[in-house]
Amino acid sequence: MQAVPSEFLAIDRKERVNRPFFDLDLRPAEERTCDFDDVVISFDAERAMVEAARCIHCPDPAPCMVACPPHNDIPSAMWLIEQGRFDEAAEIYHKTSSLPEICGRVCPHEVLCQGSCVLNKHHAPVLTGELETFAVDYQRRVSGYVIPLGIPTGKKVAIIGAGPAGLGCAEVLLRKGYEITVFESKPGPGGLLVYGIPNFKLPKDVWTEKWEQFERAGVKFAPNTYIGKDKTIDDLFAEGFEAVFIGVGSEIDAKMEDTPGTDLPGVYEATDFLIRGNVEHDLLPENMRKPLELGRRVVVIGGGDTASDCLRTALRLGAEEVTCLYRRTEKEMPGGKKDRKMAREEGAKYRFLTQPVKFIAGADGKLAAVECIEMRLGEPDAKGRRKPVPVEGSNFSVACDTAILALGYWPDPILGKTTPSLDVHDWGLISADKKTGATSRPGVFSGGDCVTGPDLVVTAMVAGRKAAESIDAYLKSKE
Ligand SMILES: Cc1cc2nc3c(=O)[nH]c(=O)nc-3n(C[C@H](O)[C@H](O)[C@H](O)COP(=O)(O)OP(=O)(O)OC[C@H]3O[C@@H](n4cnc5c(N)ncnc54)[C@H](O)[C@@H]3O)c2cc1C
Repeated sequence: MQAVPSEFLAIDRKERVNRPFFDLDLRPAEERTCDFDDVVISFDAERAMVEAARCIHCPDPAPCMVACPPHNDIPSAMWLIEQGRFDEAAEIYHKTSSLPEICGRVCPHEVLCQGSCVLNKHHAPVLTGELETFAVDYQRRVSGYVIPLGIPTGKKVAIIGAGPAGLGCAEVLLRKGYEITVFESKPGPGGLLVYGIPNFKLPKDVWTEKWEQFERAGVKFAPNTYIGKDKTIDDLFAEGFEAVFIGVGSEIDAKMEDTPGTDLPGVYEATDFLIRGNVEHDLLPENMRKPLELGRRVVVIGGGDTASDCLRTALRLGAEEVTCLYRRTEKEMPGGKKDRKMAREEGAKYRFLTQPVKFIAGADGKLAAVECIEMRLGEPDAKGRRKPVPVEGSNFSVACDTAILALGYWPDPILGKTTPSLDVHDWGLISADKKTGATSRPGVFSGGDCVTGPDLVVTAMVAGRKAAESIDAYLKSKE
């Protein structure tokens, strides 16, 4: 339900539709590739008020609100921002989202809230993502934000994984008075927000302040604790936790097992490359502390958002020629257009219908080239995407000193193997009810990428929040 007062809805929609649109300001490409700072120039108060006043306040439920996975009351936030009531607008986002300052920055708005804005029919949508960022940042800077705590229940819940799913679950449970401990295999919290998404998309200070809110709310954090190896889910119950949420993501890089040469020096997996390229030294896992050896010519293999992030990170690390090799055409690329546009502006090149078949070493034993084969599009596969088919005898070489494999991710099957009666499927994805997050094991709930496979920050966060509601109902039912 939108909270916009009815008298406001007497606005002149036609007049609003024709208000001028000013696109987001981005730092020039040649400037932004010199650092890892934010690419977007944030709104100031006046710019935010003007942009929010373009909202025509569609009848309830507004399409933007329906398309937003947590169903943020975007029209009401637009109405408050338009009037300069930024704190109140921020509160609207905090009601339904645990990570609004992050979702405002990294959500693919063009396919969610902004993509469904009715103004698209006439010209440009309201920049709802940037307005969310503005309102929540404003509140953080000016009045500060504190997670409201519930009356203590005296009950302890364990959360495995400090990514968006775990944090969404933690925030809702804190509001309900539970004592939360987050167990995390890495040295720091954040999941892919820290150990994946590059700083130029999500500045680390935004994350640091978010985590401080959790710490002030009393969350206990157990870093470097790999559940399934260092202790099991059964151990957590034995320690007195009354429910467990699994939010361990899907973070094992897909391999090119049949392609010779992937073990050559100079060939990196995307996760290793992005972590070592973006994360500060103290937060690096022990096995990733060796500095990256980046060559002058870099190829990135893959077509998703991770590939765009690798291309853009390589350019910022000083590579001179950065090329994406993708086996289908641009039309089939799974990654967002916005990131690809920015990668191109920053100097990345793309070679489509190109499949690497061999990584070739030079005289020094390090990577010197990738042998590729040209592809053509064949019949559609089960998902309707046309299958790439090799063109016989079309092999050619691409000279390079560094190759980054950005081919997708699989879940780690360890929790399925070490937790009695926890059902898993397809290489270790956890079987959980989509609405409640309940797994086959009583008291164990799950959500995020470890249930769906690689998806989005916002969908993982929503899954964590839904599971928190179920955990609360489950623990109350036990009383
Ligand atoms: C490079 C990259 C860029 C991306 N960019 C975007 C973007 O711009 N926008 C967007 O919406 N989405 C993006 N995504 C996707 C998004 O980051 C994920 O969908 C989201 O982080 C999933 O959240 P999660 O909590 O399920 O898992 P994760 O974020 O993966 O967090 C899981 C956490 O669990 C920990 N863990 C794993 N196993 C264990 C264990 N056994 N014991 C203890 N801890 C464990 C991990 O270390 C990790 O910290 C990107 C993904 C990648 C890889």
